[in-house]
Amino acid sequence: MTIDKSADLAGGDKELAFQNAASALNLDEVLPMRVFAGTWDNFYFFQSDELFVAEFADVQRELLALEGASVACLINLDETSILEVESAAMIYFDLASSGDDFVAALGGAGGKPGWMHLVDRYVMASNRGTWCIYCEKANDVAIIALADAESARRFASPLRRLRAENIQSLVAGGSVGVTPFNRLVPTWREGLLANFSGRQPEDDSRLGEAGAHIGTTCSCGESSAEIRVDGTVKQLYPNFEMIKTSDWRALLKCPVCGQLWSVDEWDKYQVQLAVKLPDANNWKLDDTDRRKAFLLRSRGGYDAGTCFRAGCEAKSIKGSAYCVDHSYAVGMRI
Ligand SMILES: [Zn+2]
Ligand SMILES: [Zn+2]
Repeated sequence: MTIDKSADLAGGDKELAFQNAASALNLDEVLPMRVFAGTWDNFYFFQSDELFVAEFADVQRELLALEGASVACLINLDETSILEVESAAMIYFDLASSGDDFVAALGGAGGKPGWMHLVDRYVMASNRGTWCIYCEKANDVAIIALADAESARRFASPLRRLRAENIQSLVAGGSVGVTPFNRLVPTWREGLLANFSGRQPEDDSRLGEAGAHIGTTCSCGESSAEIRVDGTVKQLYPNFEMIKTSDWRALLKCPVCGQLWSVDEWDKYQVQLAVKLPDANNWKLDDTDRRKAFLLRSRGGYDAGTCFRAGCEAKSIKGSAYCVDHSYAVGMRI
Protein backbone atom coordinates (compact mmCIF):
# COMPACT_ATOMS: atom_id res chain seq x y z
CA MET A 1 0.00 0.00 0.00
CA THR A 2 1.50 3.27 -1.02
CA ILE A 3 -1.01 5.60 0.58
CA ASP A 4 -1.72 5.73 4.25
CA LYS A 5 -3.62 7.90 6.61
CA SER A 6 -1.63 6.86 9.63
CA ALA A 7 0.58 9.11 11.62
CA ASP A 8 3.29 6.44 11.48
CA LEU A 9 6.32 8.62 11.04
CA ALA A 10 9.00 5.98 11.24
CA GLY A 11 10.46 7.45 8.07
CA GLY A 12 11.61 10.99 8.84
CA ASP A 13 10.64 12.07 5.33
CA LYS A 14 6.95 11.93 6.18
CA GLU A 15 7.38 14.20 9.15
CA LEU A 16 9.42 16.58 6.99
CA ALA A 17 6.64 16.66 4.39
CA PHE A 18 4.11 17.36 7.12
CA GLN A 19 6.25 20.13 8.59
CA ASN A 20 6.79 21.70 5.17
CA ALA A 21 3.04 21.73 4.51
CA ALA A 22 2.17 22.95 8.01
CA SER A 23 4.69 25.78 7.99
CA ALA A 24 3.99 27.01 4.45
CA LEU A 25 0.89 28.96 5.37
CA ASN A 26 -0.17 31.93 7.36
CA LEU A 27 -3.16 30.17 8.92
CA ASP A 28 -4.93 33.40 9.84
CA GLU A 29 -5.36 34.34 6.20
CA VAL A 30 -7.62 33.17 3.40
CA LEU A 31 -7.70 34.22 -0.24
CA PRO A 32 -7.44 36.76 -1.73
CA MET A 33 -4.95 37.66 1.00
CA ARG A 34 -1.42 36.30 0.87
CA VAL A 35 -1.96 32.92 2.52
CA PHE A 36 1.63 31.73 2.12
CA ALA A 37 4.16 32.37 4.86
CA GLY A 38 7.88 32.70 4.26
CA THR A 39 9.70 33.33 1.02
CA TRP A 40 8.27 32.01 -2.22
CA ASP A 41 9.49 33.05 -5.61
CA ASN A 42 6.40 32.62 -7.71
CA PHE A 43 2.78 31.51 -7.66
CA TYR A 44 0.85 29.62 -10.32
CA PHE A 45 -2.93 29.39 -10.14
CA PHE A 46 -5.17 26.60 -11.38
CA GLN A 47 -8.65 25.17 -10.94
CA SER A 48 -8.96 23.23 -7.71
CA ASP A 49 -10.71 20.37 -9.57
CA GLU A 50 -7.33 19.45 -11.07
CA LEU A 51 -6.26 18.28 -7.61
CA PHE A 52 -9.09 15.87 -6.98
CA VAL A 53 -8.97 13.58 -9.98
CA ALA A 54 -7.04 10.35 -10.55
CA GLU A 55 -4.70 12.13 -12.99
CA PHE A 56 -3.34 14.22 -10.16
CA ALA A 57 -1.51 11.13 -8.91
CA ASP A 58 0.68 11.39 -12.02
CA VAL A 59 1.29 15.08 -11.39
CA GLN A 60 2.28 14.58 -7.77
CA ARG A 61 4.67 11.74 -8.69
CA GLU A 62 6.25 14.00 -11.27
CA LEU A 63 6.58 16.84 -8.75
CA LEU A 64 8.32 14.47 -6.33
CA ALA A 65 10.59 12.99 -8.99
CA LEU A 66 11.66 16.36 -10.38
CA GLU A 67 12.82 17.66 -7.00
CA GLY A 68 14.24 14.37 -5.73
CA ALA A 69 11.62 14.01 -3.00
CA SER A 70 10.09 10.77 -1.76
CA VAL A 71 6.78 11.65 -0.14
CA ALA A 72 4.09 14.34 -0.13
CA CYS A 73 1.67 15.20 2.66
CA LEU A 74 -1.85 16.48 1.93
CA ILE A 75 -3.58 18.12 4.90
CA ASN A 76 -7.29 18.93 5.14
CA LEU A 77 -7.19 22.19 7.09
CA ASP A 78 -10.91 22.24 7.85
CA GLU A 79 -10.81 18.78 9.38
CA THR A 80 -7.75 19.68 11.42
CA SER A 81 -8.28 21.51 14.68
CA ILE A 82 -4.66 21.45 15.83
CA LEU A 83 -1.98 21.45 13.17
CA GLU A 84 0.22 18.82 14.78
CA VAL A 85 1.62 15.70 13.24
CA GLU A 86 -0.13 13.54 15.86
CA SER A 87 -3.64 14.75 15.12
CA ALA A 88 -3.85 16.52 11.75
CA ALA A 89 -6.18 15.12 9.07
CA MET A 90 -3.65 14.13 6.45
CA ILE A 91 -2.83 11.65 3.71
CA TYR A 92 0.61 10.75 2.38
CA PHE A 93 1.43 10.02 -1.25
CA ASP A 94 4.69 8.73 -2.64
CA LEU A 95 6.43 7.83 -5.89
CA ALA A 96 4.36 4.64 -6.19
CA SER A 97 0.92 6.19 -5.58
CA SER A 98 -1.31 5.45 -8.58
CA GLY A 99 -4.48 7.12 -9.78
CA ASP A 100 -6.50 4.25 -8.29
CA ASP A 101 -4.76 4.69 -4.94
CA PHE A 102 -5.54 8.37 -5.12
CA VAL A 103 -9.24 7.88 -5.77
CA ALA A 104 -9.41 5.21 -3.06
CA ALA A 105 -7.86 7.60 -0.54
CA LEU A 106 -9.90 10.67 -1.45
CA GLY A 107 -13.16 9.22 -2.72
CA GLY A 108 -14.71 8.42 0.63
CA ALA A 109 -15.81 5.13 2.12
CA GLY A 110 -18.56 3.65 4.27
CA GLY A 111 -21.06 6.34 3.36
CA LYS A 112 -18.66 9.06 4.49
CA PRO A 113 -17.88 11.64 1.81
CA GLY A 114 -14.23 11.76 0.74
CA TRP A 115 -12.09 14.83 0.40
CA MET A 116 -12.94 14.90 -3.30
CA HIS A 117 -16.50 15.81 -2.39
CA LEU A 118 -15.87 18.26 0.43
CA VAL A 119 -15.49 21.98 -0.15
CA ASP A 120 -12.61 22.34 2.29
CA ARG A 121 -9.21 24.03 2.40
CA TYR A 122 -6.12 21.94 1.73
CA VAL A 123 -2.36 22.28 1.77
CA MET A 124 0.19 19.90 0.28
CA ALA A 125 3.99 19.78 0.32
CA SER A 126 6.80 17.26 -0.06
CA ASN A 127 9.72 16.37 2.17
CA ARG A 128 11.95 18.58 -0.01
CA GLY A 129 9.62 21.56 0.19
CA THR A 130 10.49 23.35 -3.06
CA TRP A 131 6.79 23.58 -3.95
CA CYS A 132 3.60 23.91 -1.95
CA ILE A 133 -0.01 23.64 -3.10
CA TYR A 134 -2.80 25.51 -1.35
CA CYS A 135 -6.44 24.96 -2.29
CA GLU A 136 -9.73 26.65 -1.38
CA LYS A 137 -12.22 24.28 -2.91
CA ALA A 138 -15.21 26.50 -2.09
CA ASN A 139 -13.69 29.11 -4.42
CA ASP A 140 -12.46 26.61 -7.06
CA VAL A 141 -8.98 28.08 -6.64
CA ALA A 142 -5.69 26.27 -6.12
CA ILE A 143 -2.19 27.75 -6.10
CA ILE A 144 1.19 26.13 -6.40
CA ALA A 145 3.96 28.21 -4.84
CA LEU A 146 7.53 27.66 -6.01
CA ALA A 147 10.59 28.24 -3.88
CA ASP A 148 12.96 29.76 -6.42
CA ALA A 149 13.35 30.92 -9.99
CA GLU A 150 14.92 27.61 -11.01
CA SER A 151 11.78 25.74 -9.91
CA ALA A 152 9.61 27.29 -12.62
CA ARG A 153 11.84 25.68 -15.23
CA ARG A 154 12.19 22.40 -13.38
CA PHE A 155 8.45 21.99 -12.87
CA ALA A 156 7.38 23.13 -16.35
CA SER A 157 5.78 19.77 -17.13
CA PRO A 158 3.60 19.40 -13.98
CA LEU A 159 2.65 23.08 -14.21
CA ARG A 160 1.49 22.43 -17.73
CA ARG A 161 -0.52 19.38 -16.71
CA LEU A 162 -2.26 21.41 -14.02
CA ARG A 163 -2.79 24.16 -16.59
CA ALA A 164 -1.32 26.49 -14.03
CA GLU A 165 -0.60 30.09 -14.96
CA ASN A 166 0.48 33.18 -13.12
CA ILE A 167 -2.34 35.39 -11.93
CA GLN A 168 -1.57 38.24 -14.30
CA SER A 169 -2.04 35.93 -17.29
CA LEU A 170 -5.27 34.48 -15.94
CA VAL A 171 -6.78 37.85 -15.13
CA ALA A 172 -5.68 39.16 -18.52
CA GLY A 173 -7.66 36.31 -20.15
CA GLY A 174 -10.83 38.27 -19.32
CA SER A 175 -14.30 36.82 -19.61
CA VAL A 176 -13.22 34.18 -22.15
CA GLY A 177 -10.47 32.95 -19.84
CA VAL A 178 -10.26 30.11 -17.35
CA THR A 179 -13.00 29.70 -14.72
CA PRO A 180 -13.02 30.95 -11.96
CA PHE A 181 -10.35 33.50 -12.91
CA ASN A 182 -12.57 35.02 -15.60
CA ARG A 183 -15.26 36.04 -13.13
CA LEU A 184 -13.39 37.31 -10.10
CA VAL A 185 -15.11 40.10 -8.21
CA PRO A 186 -13.00 43.29 -8.13
CA THR A 187 -11.81 42.80 -4.54
CA TRP A 188 -10.51 39.36 -5.42
CA ARG A 189 -8.95 40.41 -8.68
CA GLU A 190 -7.13 43.30 -7.05
CA GLY A 191 -6.20 41.25 -3.99
CA LEU A 192 -4.77 38.35 -5.99
CA LEU A 193 -2.83 40.67 -8.29
CA ALA A 194 -1.42 42.60 -5.35
CA ASN A 195 -0.51 39.52 -3.29
CA PHE A 196 0.55 37.00 -5.91
CA SER A 197 2.15 38.82 -8.81
CA GLY A 198 5.17 36.93 -10.05
CA ARG A 199 8.79 37.83 -9.95
CA GLN A 200 10.28 40.26 -12.40
CA PRO A 201 12.05 38.81 -15.41
CA GLU A 202 15.70 38.10 -14.57
CA ASP A 203 17.08 40.52 -17.11
CA ASP A 204 14.70 43.22 -15.99
CA SER A 205 16.36 46.59 -16.10
CA ARG A 206 14.66 49.87 -15.69
CA LEU A 207 15.09 52.44 -18.35
CA GLY A 208 14.65 55.19 -15.79
CA GLU A 209 18.42 55.21 -15.41
CA ALA A 210 19.00 55.46 -19.12
CA GLY A 211 16.40 58.15 -19.56
CA ALA A 212 17.65 60.12 -16.61
CA HIS A 213 21.05 60.71 -18.17
CA ILE A 214 21.56 64.35 -18.86
CA GLY A 215 24.45 65.24 -21.08
CA THR A 216 26.16 63.61 -23.99
CA THR A 217 25.89 59.91 -23.22
CA CYS A 218 22.94 57.51 -23.20
CA SER A 219 22.50 53.79 -22.64
CA CYS A 220 20.22 53.04 -25.58
CA GLY A 221 23.03 51.09 -27.25
CA GLU A 222 23.57 48.71 -24.35
CA SER A 223 19.90 48.29 -23.57
CA SER A 224 17.90 45.24 -24.71
CA ALA A 225 15.52 45.80 -27.59
CA GLU A 226 12.58 45.50 -25.21
CA ILE A 227 12.63 46.12 -21.48
CA ARG A 228 10.17 46.29 -18.65
CA VAL A 229 9.76 49.67 -16.99
CA ASP A 230 7.70 51.03 -14.13
CA GLY A 231 6.71 54.66 -13.88
CA THR A 232 5.13 57.48 -15.84
CA VAL A 233 6.70 58.32 -19.17
CA LYS A 234 7.77 61.71 -17.84
CA GLN A 235 9.49 60.14 -14.81
CA LEU A 236 11.23 57.53 -16.92
CA TYR A 237 12.33 59.80 -19.77
CA PRO A 238 12.49 63.37 -18.57
CA ASN A 239 14.84 64.41 -21.38
CA PHE A 240 13.43 62.47 -24.31
CA GLU A 241 11.54 64.18 -27.07
CA MET A 242 7.87 63.17 -27.14
CA ILE A 243 7.01 62.72 -30.82
CA LYS A 244 3.44 61.49 -30.44
CA THR A 245 1.09 59.53 -28.21
CA SER A 246 -1.60 57.05 -29.15
CA ASP A 247 -3.56 54.27 -27.41
CA TRP A 248 -1.72 54.51 -24.11
CA ARG A 249 1.66 54.55 -25.75
CA ALA A 250 4.17 57.28 -26.39
CA LEU A 251 6.71 57.48 -29.18
CA LEU A 252 9.90 59.01 -27.81
CA LYS A 253 13.26 59.98 -29.26
CA CYS A 254 16.52 59.86 -27.37
CA PRO A 255 18.10 63.35 -27.45
CA VAL A 256 21.61 61.87 -27.52
CA CYS A 257 21.59 59.07 -30.12
CA GLY A 258 18.22 59.60 -31.80
CA GLN A 259 16.98 56.07 -30.95
CA LEU A 260 13.17 55.80 -31.09
CA TRP A 261 11.35 54.13 -28.23
CA SER A 262 7.70 53.15 -27.83
CA VAL A 263 6.76 53.33 -24.16
CA ASP A 264 3.51 52.31 -22.45
CA GLU A 265 1.73 54.77 -20.23
CA TRP A 266 1.84 53.60 -16.62
CA ASP A 267 -1.05 51.34 -15.54
CA LYS A 268 -1.07 49.53 -12.22
CA TYR A 269 -2.41 46.30 -13.72
CA GLN A 270 -0.51 46.15 -16.97
CA VAL A 271 3.01 45.10 -17.75
CA GLN A 272 4.69 48.27 -18.91
CA LEU A 273 7.25 47.91 -21.66
CA ALA A 274 9.66 50.17 -23.48
CA VAL A 275 10.71 48.89 -26.90
CA LYS A 276 13.22 50.13 -29.44
CA LEU A 277 11.84 50.93 -32.87
CA PRO A 278 13.69 51.13 -36.19
CA ASP A 279 11.57 54.00 -37.50
CA ALA A 280 8.45 55.99 -36.76
CA ASN A 281 6.31 54.74 -39.68
CA ASN A 282 4.94 51.44 -38.40
CA TRP A 283 5.59 52.06 -34.77
CA LYS A 284 2.53 50.25 -33.41
CA LEU A 285 2.95 47.18 -35.63
CA ASP A 286 6.63 46.75 -34.78
CA ASP A 287 5.68 47.21 -31.17
CA THR A 288 3.59 43.98 -31.13
CA ASP A 289 6.49 41.90 -32.49
CA ARG A 290 8.77 43.36 -29.84
CA ARG A 291 6.26 42.53 -27.12
CA LYS A 292 6.07 38.92 -28.27
CA ALA A 293 9.86 38.80 -28.25
CA PHE A 294 9.83 40.13 -24.69
CA LEU A 295 7.25 37.54 -23.63
CA LEU A 296 9.36 34.71 -25.04
CA ARG A 297 12.53 36.00 -23.41
CA SER A 298 10.91 36.63 -20.03
CA ARG A 299 9.62 33.03 -20.01
CA GLY A 300 13.06 31.64 -20.71
CA GLY A 301 12.30 30.46 -24.25
CA TYR A 302 10.42 27.45 -25.57
CA ASP A 303 9.70 24.20 -23.77
CA ALA A 304 9.58 20.72 -25.29
CA GLY A 305 5.86 20.65 -26.10
CA THR A 306 3.61 22.15 -28.72
CA CYS A 307 0.81 24.70 -28.36
CA PHE A 308 -2.35 23.55 -26.56
CA ARG A 309 -4.58 25.40 -29.02
CA ALA A 310 -6.26 22.91 -31.40
CA GLY A 311 -4.62 22.93 -34.82
CA CYS A 312 -1.58 24.94 -33.74
CA GLU A 313 1.72 23.14 -34.25
CA ALA A 314 3.95 25.91 -32.90
CA LYS A 315 6.21 25.26 -29.91
CA SER A 316 4.82 26.22 -26.54
CA ILE A 317 6.74 28.62 -24.34
CA LYS A 318 7.95 27.82 -20.84
CA GLY A 319 5.36 28.15 -18.11
CA SER A 320 2.50 28.37 -20.62
CA ALA A 321 0.44 25.80 -22.48
CA TYR A 322 0.47 27.99 -25.58
CA CYS A 323 2.85 29.19 -28.27
CA VAL A 324 4.02 32.82 -28.31
CA ASP A 325 1.19 34.03 -30.56
CA HIS A 326 -1.57 32.27 -28.62
CA SER A 327 -0.08 33.21 -25.26
CA TYR A 328 -0.07 36.81 -26.44
CA ALA A 329 -3.63 36.44 -27.75
CA VAL A 330 -4.94 35.44 -24.32
CA GLY A 331 -3.30 38.48 -22.78
CA MET A 332 -0.02 37.08 -21.48
CA ARG A 333 2.70 39.73 -21.53
CA ILE A 334 5.45 38.40 -19.28
ZN1 LIG B 1 20.15 57.08 -26.80
ZN1 LIG C 1 -0.42 28.34 -30.82
